[in-house]
Amino acid sequence: MNRSDLLILGSGSTAFAAALRAQELGKTAVMTEERMIGGTCVNRGCLPSKNLIEAARLLHDAHNPRYPGLSPTQPQVDFASLVAQKDEVIHDYRRNRYESLIGDSIRIERGHVRFLDAHAVEVGGKRIEGERVLIATGARPIVPPIEGLAEVPYLTSDLLTSDEPLELMELPASLLIVGSGYIALELGQMFQRFGSEVTILERSEEILSRGYEPEVGPTVRAILEEEGVRFVTGATVRSVRRNGSGVVATVETRKGVEEHRAARLLVAIGRRPNSDQIELEKAGVSVGQSRQVLVDRHLRTNVPHIFAAGDVIGSESASQMATPVGSHDGGIAAFNALSGEEPRSVDHRVIPRTIFTDPQVAVVGLTEEEAIAAGNLCWCNTLPMSLVPRAGAIRDTRGIIKMVADAKTDEVLGVSMVAPNAGEVIHEAAMALRFRARLQDFIDQLHVYPTMAEALKIVAISRFKDPSRLSCCAE
Ligand SMILES: Cc1cc2nc3c(=O)[nH]c(=O)nc-3n(C[C@H](O)[C@H](O)[C@H](O)COP(=O)(O)OP(=O)(O)OC[C@H]3O[C@@H](n4cnc5c(N)ncnc54)[C@H](O)[C@@H]3O)c2cc1C
Repeated sequence: MNRSDLLILGSGSTAFAAALRAQELGKTAVMTEERMIGGTCVNRGCLPSKNLIEAARLLHDAHNPRYPGLSPTQPQVDFASLVAQKDEVIHDYRRNRYESLIGDSIRIERGHVRFLDAHAVEVGGKRIEGERVLIATGARPIVPPIEGLAEVPYLTSDLLTSDEPLELMELPASLLIVGSGYIALELGQMFQRFGSEVTILERSEEILSRGYEPEVGPTVRAILEEEGVRFVTGATVRSVRRNGSGVVATVETRKGVEEHRAARLLVAIGRRPNSDQIELEKAGVSVGQSRQVLVDRHLRTNVPHIFAAGDVIGSESASQMATPVGSHDGGIAAFNALSGEEPRSVDHRVIPRTIFTDPQVAVVGLTEEEAIAAGNLCWCNTLPMSLVPRAGAIRDTRGIIKMVADAKTDEVLGVSMVAPNAGEVIHEAAMALRFRARLQDFIDQLHVYPTMAEALKIVAISRFKDPSRLSCCAE
């Protein structure tokens, strides 16, 4: 019982995908978990955040109908009930998609796991061995060395968790958020819509300044500011201290030192791989500068029978910390570990991503700067969503679309969108990048009229003619 074909550290979406692949291959797998089964996505990440973000959108739309002829309504926010229904959704999902999969060939051991040697771990006082090993311990919030932080109560991106003491049960009257990455923006807009006064403190001069087109950050910022979210950029948080039941942050900006006060503080400056508490050195596994577990294209570490996948590998092999990446790679890692066949390589060339603000931010492929750095001669263009018929028809013209193509071949290299439903639309662009489509492919493809996806066709057309002089259906 204490030896299995695949020993998995972690029980998140990466681990489960690997365990299921092991089962398909007729092998046994054991996962190990010290928190809730299912890991970050289902318990405290994607699922709870998207559940509450949608509730906040319904509330916002009720308060602010876009159509003359519809009067605003004022639904009351019962935050405790919202949290309770969110927890119910999580419980159902966790039961049906995770716990129910555990059985004879997939087992789970509870407790903190650490390596004893390259084939064995200790968990819950037991020694568990594996023929092959997968490290899928995910990531956790980065806690910056801010003076006074250890003495004030603060929230992290774990605040949406259920069945753990870290869960936020009361709506804060005001919220200071340190950081402005995707989690800060999603939760910032959500809390503002529920009625908190939100201030976002960001060290850089602009939000989303790394990894996104320069047009994206200012567009999102302006939309969130319009809703009342306050941004303080170029701001370094020097210290924090208690203020009655609230908190004060002392912040250095170009204008001088400022103090910002709020009922609660949320630290959301990023996430770091969970590789430092499992005694990796006992297995001889190497990590990189950000403590990501180093892997090759087959997700194999420097120790031949030990693999790693998911958030714990950070951006190794051009990976990204996102659930579908980990799930996909978990299956590949298990296949490579157990099948005895030619190993499969990971393909991280096309990873669509979405920030679930309203409107959403969705990106895929290269930014203009990345395309140029990769040696391409670039054609690129940015258009306002007001040129898209559906946006006008439904009175929601917020946002932009940018397309990056190779100027010689017209191959589309990247797309960035800020638009309603951008997270759905981006899949057309992702599939196009996968098959190395050209601008003309977007133009020749018939699109449903009127849809937000027509934005892709219109921006491709703008290579050849004025997109503001098109008739119906972008023709
Ligand atoms: C607020 C938030 C919103 C997000 N929204 C999205 C989204 O919309 N879409 C998306 O794609 N991604 C989203 N993510 C990211 C996504 O949740 C992660 O990329 C994904 O869950 C990573 O899966 P994983 O299996 O690699 O790691 P995890 O799910 O983190 O699983 C690792 C597990 O290992 C356990 N573990 C770690 N160390 C030990 C140890 N020593 N002993 C025992 N157990 C241990 C942990 O408790 C954890 O359960 C979000 C994340 C957050 C925080």
